[in-house]
Amino acid sequence: MKAMLLRGANLPFEPVELPDPAPGPGEAVARVITCGSGLTIQHAKAGRRKIPFPRVIGHEITGEIVAVGAGVTGLKIGDPVTAYFYLNCGHCRWCLSQLEPLCLQSGGNVGLDCDGGYAEYIKLPAHIFIKLPESLDYKEHPAEIGVVTDALATPLKVLRRARVAPGETVAVFGAGGGLGIHQLMMAKWARARVIAVDIAAEKFDACRKAGADEVINPHNADAAAALLDLTHGEGVDVVIDYVSSTATLEAGAKALGRRGRLVTLGGSGQPFTASARDMLNKEQDLLGSRYVTRTDIMAALDLVARGEVWPLVTDVRPLAEAEALHERVERGAVTGRAVLRVAEW
Ligand SMILES: [Zn+2]
Repeated sequence: MKAMLLRGANLPFEPVELPDPAPGPGEAVARVITCGSGLTIQHAKAGRRKIPFPRVIGHEITGEIVAVGAGVTGLKIGDPVTAYFYLNCGHCRWCLSQLEPLCLQSGGNVGLDCDGGYAEYIKLPAHIFIKLPESLDYKEHPAEIGVVTDALATPLKVLRRARVAPGETVAVFGAGGGLGIHQLMMAKWARARVIAVDIAAEKFDACRKAGADEVINPHNADAAAALLDLTHGEGVDVVIDYVSSTATLEAGAKALGRRGRLVTLGGSGQPFTASARDMLNKEQDLLGSRYVTRTDIMAALDLVARGEVWPLVTDVRPLAEAEALHERVERGAVTGRAVLRVAEW
């Protein structure tokens, strides 16, 4: 099969011919139609996240099952699928509680700790594949459907984790990024008042189109003060921080109102200081949100199938142009999501 191989960090993709994968017991193989090109995998390509090489990266796939190994039930040849990002065990108490990102025996991530979707075929443990709803036209929209597992499922999970209610005010830090812009979209869908916070002024139009009622640029204004201004000094109900630097986390914590919730999704993951007195007096929550559960993915796919929301994919290219596309992802030049077309339709 044709694949794009990375032989090490900071090296260009190398087009190679690899043996077609054959499924062992409990495994399945899918033909890849499209695969998303997000920042998570760019971090690995750029060496900011250590992974074993050589590696075929990519996990946000739309594909079709072409072979199943011994003992596999629930998947058959021809089934349209996407993939879960975590190689979770499926048996520990967190997996059994449907909180798979907290798995105690995780094998890592698809496309980082095993080969992924930048190839004609992908082999995974069968339970990592997620069947697409029949009502989704994956042949017409494979690029959009493949990125739902992260781009829409992650924001949906955050809404649930932060208990966002209609009419609440939600501020999104890093709103112009691939996940941030979908968070604006999902917060609007949840009938919140939505405030985008980002330093990329060229993304502000897209932020407004995605659902932002207001936009704040921390280059021009103190973000916490601006958020307090916009809420008449009361503070916002929810801050969702996709940047998670010391500065954004502290600004977010300061901008929280009574019963406010601050959610970090990693990003820089820097330490920060928050006021225990405010947490007490205003009954605030500081929360982490790690990826999504399978249930979140199925819910997000169902929302897309019903036409409630639609992922923003602005750059779709053939697999041969993976290097050029990743340069754009690295520069933050992509609005919404970028996707590689692996098979022709
Ligand atoms: Zn587990």
